[in-house]
Amino acid sequence: MRAWEVVEPGPIEDGPLRLVERPAPEPGPGELLVRVRACGVCRTDLHVAEGDLPVRKPRVTPGHEVVGEVAGLGPGAAGFAEGDRVGVAWLRHTDGTCRYCRRGAENLCPASRYTGWDADGGYAEYTTVPAAFAYRLPAEIGDVALAPLLCAGIIGHHALRRASLPPGGRLGLYGFGGSAHLCAQVALAEGATVHVLTRGDAARELALSLGAASARDAYDAPPEPLDAAILFAPAGELVPVALQALDRGGVLAVAGIHLSDVPPLNYERDLFYERELRTVTSNTREDGREFLALAARHDVRATTRTYPLESAQEALQDLKAGRFPGAAVLTTD
Ligand SMILES: [Zn+2]
Ligand SMILES: [Zn+2]
Repeated sequence: MRAWEVVEPGPIEDGPLRLVERPAPEPGPGELLVRVRACGVCRTDLHVAEGDLPVRKPRVTPGHEVVGEVAGLGPGAAGFAEGDRVGVAWLRHTDGTCRYCRRGAENLCPASRYTGWDADGGYAEYTTVPAAFAYRLPAEIGDVALAPLLCAGIIGHHALRRASLPPGGRLGLYGFGGSAHLCAQVALAEGATVHVLTRGDAARELALSLGAASARDAYDAPPEPLDAAILFAPAGELVPVALQALDRGGVLAVAGIHLSDVPPLNYERDLFYERELRTVTSNTREDGREFLALAARHDVRATTRTYPLESAQEALQDLKAGRFPGAAVLTTD
C-alpha cells in the first residue's frame, strides 16, 4: 500500500514527509484493519510533521480523521464486521483504571495514546484502530464531509462545552479553520450569537455564510462583549486580546494542542471581574459519540477541499499558509 511517513520533522515547506510503498498493517489483538476512504488534514498533523510535538513513533504516518471500512479483524476484535463503515479518531488508548479514567475524564489519562502520533494513522491506504476506540458513523453524512468531524468537530464540541457558553450567549471564535467552522454550526444551531475574529477574507466569508453575526480581523474588538470565547488559532499573543473581549464572568477556552508563548497577562486588564482562562485537552469517547449525534441532528457539514492521497504534503503546506477555508481532506479513490 501507499503510506506517508514523517522522515525527519521540520518546516513543512521543506517536505518532511515522504510517500512510501509498504505492506498493509496487520491488525493486532482487539484491533480492526481499516481501508481508508477519506482522511481529514488536522493542524495537529502539521505539528507532528514540523516537530512542534515530540516524536513518539519514528517515521509515523500522520492522520486521525479517518472514514473507512473494516477490511479485517484482529484476534478478539468485537463490535464490528468486515465492510462496516467506521471512524478512526485521535484518541486510541487509555488505561481505564487511573483516577481520571475512573471519573469519566479519560481525555486526561496519562497512559493515553494517539492515532497518527503514537501509532500509524490515515495518510495511507490502510490503517488500524482498536475496536473499542472506533466510531460508528451517521449514515446521512458522506465520507469527505464527515472526516473533519472526527477530530476538528469533536474537539470544537469539547471546547464549546469547556467555554461554558450560557444559552443564547455571545460567543467569539478566534481563528476560523476546520474546528471553528464546525463548532460555529453547533453553537448557532443551539441559539448562540457567533462573532468570528480571524485573518483571511475567505475564512471571514465562510463565517458569514454559515450565519456568524460578524467577522473581523483577529486583533479587532468584536462588536459586543463576549460571554465566551474559544481560541483556535495557535497564537499565544491572542490570549490577552481574547480575554479583553470577554464580558464580566466570561470564559476563554484555548482549543489547540500547541500554542506559541502567551505574553505576560495584566491582572486588572485581562483577568479581573471573574474572567477565566481554560485549556482543552483531547476528548473522551463520550464527547465523540455526543458530537457525532449532534452533527447528524443539526446537519453539521465540513466545508472541504479534497486532495488525492499523494498530495498530502501539499495539503499540509496549504493548511499552514491558510490557502483554503474550512478543512482539507485526503481521498484514496
Ligand atoms: Zn486512565
Ligand atoms: Zn486533530
